[in-house]
Amino acid sequence: MTGRRVYRYAGRDWPDPRNTRAWRTLRDQVVLEEPTCQLRIAGICTIVSTTADHIVPVVQRPDLAMTRTNLRGACRACNDARRDLPDGTLVTDRDHRPPALDLFG
Ligand SMILES: [Zn+2]
Repeated sequence: MTGRRVYRYAGRDWPDPRNTRAWRTLRDQVVLEEPTCQLRIAGICTIVSTTADHIVPVVQRPDLAMTRTNLRGACRACNDARRDLPDGTLVTDRDHRPPALDLFG
């Protein structure tokens, strides 16, 4: 197999779990529990959760990749748009307080 990303963290390698059966099961649970998108990125959000977003990106904390409390329901558009960005850089429909962005406006 090629293409499976491995993250180096805390002195060990963490294979990206997002193509495993365990991930799909956990993702489906998150989508059931949080059926509306929790990211709500302005202009692109389709509202309906179809996947799970990692609150702390996997690239930062691969040890939390399969931790329920680090996951939230998200639509594909928001999840793709966010990628590995920290939450603070997002402009969302439900959160009109991005003072950091004003500095660069
Ligand atoms: Zn969304």
